[in-house]
Amino acid sequence: MTSDTAVQPPEPTVQALADSILDTLVHRIGKDAQAARPHDWLAATIFTVRNDIVERWMASTKAAHAAGAKRVYYLSLEFLIGRLLRDAVTNLQRSDEVTRALAIHGQTLAELEEIEPDAALGNGGLGRLAACFMESLASLDLPAYGYGIRYVNGMFRQRIDDGWQVEMPENWLAHGNPWEFERRESAYFIGFGGEVTITGNRVHWNPAEAVEAIAVDTPVVGWRGKWVNTLRLWNARAFDPIKLDKFNAGDFEGALGDQMRAETLTRVLYPNDSTPAGQELRLRQEYFFSSASIQDIVRRHIQYFGDIQTLPDKAAIQLNDTHPAVSVAELMRVLIDHHDFAFDAAWEITKRTFGYTNHTLLPEALESWPLSLFERLLPRHMQIVYQINAKLLREARSAGSNDQSIAAISLIDEGGERRVRMANLAFAGSHSINGVAALHTDLMKKTVFADLHRLYPTRINNKTNGITPRRWLQQCNPGLTALIREAIGDGFLDDAERLIDLDPFAEDSGFRERFAAVKRSNKVMLANHIFESMNLRIDPDAMFDVQIKRIHEYKRQLLNIVETVALYDQIRSHPERDWTPRVKLFAGKAASSYQNAKLVIKLANDVARRVNADPMTRDLLRVAFVPNYNVSLAERIVPAADLSEQISTAGMEASGTGNMKFAMNGALTIGTLDGANIEIKDRVGDDNIFIFGMTADEVEAKRANGYDPRSVIEASPELRQAVSGIASGVFSPDDPGRYAGLMGGLYDGDWFMVAADFDDYAAAQRRVDARYVDRDAWTASAIRNVARVGWFSSDRTIREYARDIWTVM
Ligand SMILES: *Cc1c(COP(=O)(O)O)cnc(C)c1O
Repeated sequence: MTSDTAVQPPEPTVQALADSILDTLVHRIGKDAQAARPHDWLAATIFTVRNDIVERWMASTKAAHAAGAKRVYYLSLEFLIGRLLRDAVTNLQRSDEVTRALAIHGQTLAELEEIEPDAALGNGGLGRLAACFMESLASLDLPAYGYGIRYVNGMFRQRIDDGWQVEMPENWLAHGNPWEFERRESAYFIGFGGEVTITGNRVHWNPAEAVEAIAVDTPVVGWRGKWVNTLRLWNARAFDPIKLDKFNAGDFEGALGDQMRAETLTRVLYPNDSTPAGQELRLRQEYFFSSASIQDIVRRHIQYFGDIQTLPDKAAIQLNDTHPAVSVAELMRVLIDHHDFAFDAAWEITKRTFGYTNHTLLPEALESWPLSLFERLLPRHMQIVYQINAKLLREARSAGSNDQSIAAISLIDEGGERRVRMANLAFAGSHSINGVAALHTDLMKKTVFADLHRLYPTRINNKTNGITPRRWLQQCNPGLTALIREAIGDGFLDDAERLIDLDPFAEDSGFRERFAAVKRSNKVMLANHIFESMNLRIDPDAMFDVQIKRIHEYKRQLLNIVETVALYDQIRSHPERDWTPRVKLFAGKAASSYQNAKLVIKLANDVARRVNADPMTRDLLRVAFVPNYNVSLAERIVPAADLSEQISTAGMEASGTGNMKFAMNGALTIGTLDGANIEIKDRVGDDNIFIFGMTADEVEAKRANGYDPRSVIEASPELRQAVSGIASGVFSPDDPGRYAGLMGGLYDGDWFMVAADFDDYAAAQRRVDARYVDRDAWTASAIRNVARVGWFSSDRTIREYARDIWTVM
């Protein structure tokens, strides 16, 4: 859509804005300026900014309608959106104005931004990708809706007690949510269970239970405020919230029981990353939001275009991983049972409408549901899945697939307890299946989808992930943004690939100095934050070496910690050497049931306690585990990082997006040839990144040929000393056996190949040290990273989806 189709309201003056904030405070919040607390000012500011957004929002909706535009529907069980005020005000380019209007009332925009709750409706990268995509879709003026669940409690808040992770509920709605609009008129019936009857050739599903899905909309403003899309999150409600007969009979709990059961559906986000939740509630959540979204999409299509036949021409539905895969069966059900389609005709429409994005190759993370559960909860969908499967296997057979291949392609896993394979369902029902980095897409073709790929060789394609440069450069790093504008002008704000114009500045010593000064000032701000929040002093002149991401064995925080211990041992043995001072920063949450990941958090904290207290090393090495990793914390830490740790076992990180954020903010990467690290290396060049370790092929070969970690550990004196120190309780004198099991896991098995990559990793770290000492060379590399990673803007990713998968550009 072109920008001039949406209205540009006149800019109100600062005084008018100040008046309108005060008016909102009084008439909407019900407080005067004297009584108002910071949260009241925040709400009044958001409501006022929102007024501006709403007009643009309605204009965008009308423009899309008038143009008869095809719409993109992004279905995701997670949207890790974080705070929205700074995002909205920056994209509207009203930061100065709002700052000055608030100053009239003695308020500070930056302080109000800091008290906005961080909307953590996601676990990690997958949810953050959905949020970046929503912002890019709006910035590219593409009519789009995000569909998800409005969790009352999103991701838990992490407290660190005596070094251990403690999970606390995060009550992000405690003060209400001024961004959202409840749409009571957009409500849908969502059934569960019951039975299927057939009368004549009509199939009828009579669910045993039902809840109502209510839409709650949040506007998503694009860059420069030209276009506004909708994030539509579903809330669950009982139809008859209170059963008056029961209430009057004195059965108060029974009277409210349905309501409580319904609300349970949208109460919590499953705190899991890369492992499926096996609970029935999870499948209910998936169907609940899939069904509401499909019904809404079909209703809108018919309202605008009249004829359901044209759905694939006017709607592109993208499945963010398999969590919404049941949508494939749901659209089939709606077409067949409600719109009288024959199966084959419905199937063609379905395949042309859906695209599916795969996010993981970890076999334990591939979603499947016990067939008995699926059938009990969704009996009609079970029949449809069987029909799809029959058709799929017929096609496979006539293409000459053998029995083994047929078994791999089947939507039903017949080995052991029969299960419905959601990835196969998503693949079968989509015309496009994409991976999220080149290596990942390549491995998809060779592993999980090898047989489906042979049958449908044109469907798999790659769309390397990206990040929105508005949030991850412009907003989180205003100092660097100002410096870049001074050097190369404003073009990069609209097209991140123009950052390449910065490349020659790596050779300009005056620019390097200013670049280094910005980095240092970001480090000072982070150091102050860490001192205030953790009472730990870190030196902004030391190298900030950062690993922040979900705690997971494949991401190998343990490799980093073991190397930290080895470095600590080395400094103690050779205090006379010229060590490069480092601060090791960690942050990340562990899934609450993931014991090893929680133990890794404790180990990082135990190592920190000892290292930070050692007078021999304390000026050379500091370790900090910063609690409660979320989007807001990432926005603080990323601009202050010197070194970005992206050290997953090769072949296991589908893409990573943290790696892109760091590079765009001038951190150098130490990493394996995994996920998008490979593509980052290709762009920044070998001299501006530190690559180590085995390749994905080498990892596979080592596993196949019998890997013996014990002999690797015995052969590496540094590794052996570090591992035996940890195992014998050097860092846990209060409980010397605490890490015996964790270290034992390295000796026998070491699935994630920590030992195999250790020596090469340690050697790469010493190359990092040497480069950091040459501060000019380091800064030049940092500038080249910023200049060369504009391609990782999610605008580029979305353009590729729009062109190749959705055909909307
Ligand atoms: C970017 C981001 C992630 C993803 O980080 P990876 O290093 O790619 O795993 C996870 N959580 C938050 C809060 C993020 O901002």
